[in-house]
Amino acid sequence: MKSQQTQGWQAKDHAHHLHPFTDPKALKQAGGRVITRADGVYIWDSQGNQILDGMAGLWCVNMGYGLRSIADVAAHQLLELPYYNSFFQCSHPPAIELAAEIAALAPPHMNKVFFTGSGSEANDTNLRLVRHYWDIQGKPEKKTIISRHNAYHGSTVAGASLGGMSGMHAQGDLPIPGIVHIAQPYWYGEGQGLSAEEFGIRCARELESKILELGEDKVAAFIAEPIQGAGGVIVPPDSYWPEIKKILAKYDILFILDEVITGFGRTGCYFAAEYYDLEPDLITIAKGMTSGYAPMGGVIVSDKVADALDKGGEFAHGYTYSGHPLSAAVALENLRLMKQQNIVAKVAEETAPYLQQRLRQVLAQHPLVGEVRGVGMVAALELVADKASHQRFAAELGVGTQCREHSIASGLVMRAVGDTMIIAPPLVITQDQIDELVTKAKQALDMTYADVQKSND
Ligand code: PMP
Repeated sequence: MKSQQTQGWQAKDHAHHLHPFTDPKALKQAGGRVITRADGVYIWDSQGNQILDGMAGLWCVNMGYGLRSIADVAAHQLLELPYYNSFFQCSHPPAIELAAEIAALAPPHMNKVFFTGSGSEANDTNLRLVRHYWDIQGKPEKKTIISRHNAYHGSTVAGASLGGMSGMHAQGDLPIPGIVHIAQPYWYGEGQGLSAEEFGIRCARELESKILELGEDKVAAFIAEPIQGAGGVIVPPDSYWPEIKKILAKYDILFILDEVITGFGRTGCYFAAEYYDLEPDLITIAKGMTSGYAPMGGVIVSDKVADALDKGGEFAHGYTYSGHPLSAAVALENLRLMKQQNIVAKVAEETAPYLQQRLRQVLAQHPLVGEVRGVGMVAALELVADKASHQRFAAELGVGTQCREHSIASGLVMRAVGDTMIIAPPLVITQDQIDELVTKAKQALDMTYADVQKSND
């Protein structure tokens, strides 16, 4: 039974609150889940249910909920300097200190940060920045950006255009001109008949074909997530990134690595650039930099691009909340805690290997699971009708959504991307909590399998 308070919130929510990535009619029917508080790796809903947050919010609460020192720093910053801008030759200590701290964590050839309010805004910044860069170099024809199908780079006009989600492109007549998409390295779903190694190389070579088709003198940049997140945790075959690296070394184009999800420890390195040994010109950041305690994103800029900007006059771009003092202070405290708890090394050496091993041991043999894949503290379970042929369920059956609902009822947040179940818990999750996560995921799969069997009867 829903409490009166929950019912009241649900009615008001539907009447007045237009939600992101939500069908309003479906929300009205389902009622929606009202989350009221959180602590550590757990959230509580308005009905008092305790749920293990296997998605770290939206892949962002890396250090977990309820951190008193972040709240204290935030309160202090709000009283000291709640707002000032970083336009027109102004700055303030939190933005200065945070930029230096991020530069120290970033690959050695990257030493400047442009702050934004979100990952989407950071990718909008990237689009303008790379085109401005080529103008400064006297190559104004180099404007096209190559991205990948099923990529996610945000929801703003440039972000959604850079992304490769057909459902998003269909709304708002996207992509905008000057953005093209090549294949994603999704071996399990699209690589039938080829080894993972062969498929990885084939997908990477699409980058070279596209550069040659457009002409190197027309291409500004290639943008990619190290591991596609919202697209379904697509972990590329081992051959993919080394081949992309070879191609990027041959052509004079910029490389934007979108680390909004992978940044700040999720792979067991501070940045996946290190994990995959990549040398991007620009890195998109957001989410984990504040653990979601305050909104913030940014672009880490290489010396090569920063040196060019020094010659380009004013970069006519910026946001009121670029480097917001509250968010920057929160980010600094979040990064201090990450270091103090040595969390990235712990993820790399202890908890992530344990998570990946337990998911495979317990779930790979499950009759619904076609593949378990993942890196560090992010993983996916592909739900399939037939394991041998990788055959999917009909989309209208909504098997992934069913599994998500069973999971939440079992006390675990998993996200469904179609029929791919996603797991990306806070980095502070312990081994005992990983056991709890895996047990609950199995329970959700068992319940979903029972539904599938019933509908087959
Ligand atoms: N890039 C990637 C890889 C993302 O996963 C996201 C958000 N999920 C974004 C960009 C957009 O970030 P935001 O939602 O903060 O605008």
